[in-house]
Amino acid sequence: MNTNIKKNIVIKIGTTSIIKDDKVDLTLLKSLVDLVKEYKEQYNFVIVTSGAVGLGATKLNYKSRPKSLKRLQVASAVGQIELINQYEKIFKENNLNIAQVLITKNLIDDREQFVNTTQALNELLSQGIIPVINENDVVATEELKFGDNDRLSAIVSIIVNAVKLIIITNKEGLYNFNPDKYKDAKKIDYIEYDSNQLNDLIPISKAGDGMGGFSTKIMAAQISGFSGIPTHIISWSKSNLSKAILNAKVGTFITASNKKIRLRKLWIAYGMASVSNIHIDEGAANALRKNASLLSKGVIRHDNSFKIGDGLSIVSDKKIVAKGIAKIDSDSFNESSLLVHKDDLIIL
Ligand code: GLU
Repeated sequence: MNTNIKKNIVIKIGTTSIIKDDKVDLTLLKSLVDLVKEYKEQYNFVIVTSGAVGLGATKLNYKSRPKSLKRLQVASAVGQIELINQYEKIFKENNLNIAQVLITKNLIDDREQFVNTTQALNELLSQGIIPVINENDVVATEELKFGDNDRLSAIVSIIVNAVKLIIITNKEGLYNFNPDKYKDAKKIDYIEYDSNQLNDLIPISKAGDGMGGFSTKIMAAQISGFSGIPTHIISWSKSNLSKAILNAKVGTFITASNKKIRLRKLWIAYGMASVSNIHIDEGAANALRKNASLLSKGVIRHDNSFKIGDGLSIVSDKKIVAKGIAKIDSDSFNESSLLVHKDDLIIL
């Protein structure tokens, strides 16, 4: 069998789906295995799974999901063993080999790490081994964290050049309003890749969902979509996942853009949280479009203080026209500073 002709699909499973009554939902894993087997002649599957922190917190009798970095590290280190053991058990019973892969965000900046990870994942897939991926929460510091597996799964889909990213969550898909608050909120079946339409949903999606809620799912769809990979957001059921694999109508389907963009810039555009808006004048906006860096002389004002390395949204005429990384702190901002270097800037 030539595995090279098979296409890759990345499936991301969220904590609320994988954990049931404080344990790994084995029924879900069994159904997942059934589907992996059913479609294994056409597709290689890469799984991105959450659940380590939740399982660890239960084991350590934490009352709620930890917030501090230290407790998150401890909970995830303890819980990851349980998580991967359950995957291993169920997949092995079905004669499928899995591999645990823990990754950190710096692979986006570090070309060598990126290439190494790509090669390792491709090698696993070519040997018919299913990578089961989570973030390495112990190594990741606050700045070096994806923080959520949605964006991680989007990066993974780029790494393995997937034909599709499927995000499994506890809602049927994306809604026009927060469905927890508004009974008449409607699910959106289909979104033509268009960063504005997705962007417009981000503020709506923030409320009430913990872990950035659906905003990180939207960002994931933006990241993968910008790289030519469509995203399907669904709630868990065996038949939903089967439909998503078959491109049938289910959940929310977000098409991909034809543009291809460098991964680091994608992260700046859709992965990084923006700490402040930087309002710029028309001259500066024109210069940015001609590939210039952002200089302080074109800045009218900024909304919040920021530090070197923070993500910034650059606003002209009330619209976000670019995103970038701060080269200086807002405190040391003066007439002649270089605020965002062109290498750290992406026009939207
Ligand atoms: N890496 C975290 C975990 O395994 C998941 C982060 C998330 O919820 O997206 O618990």
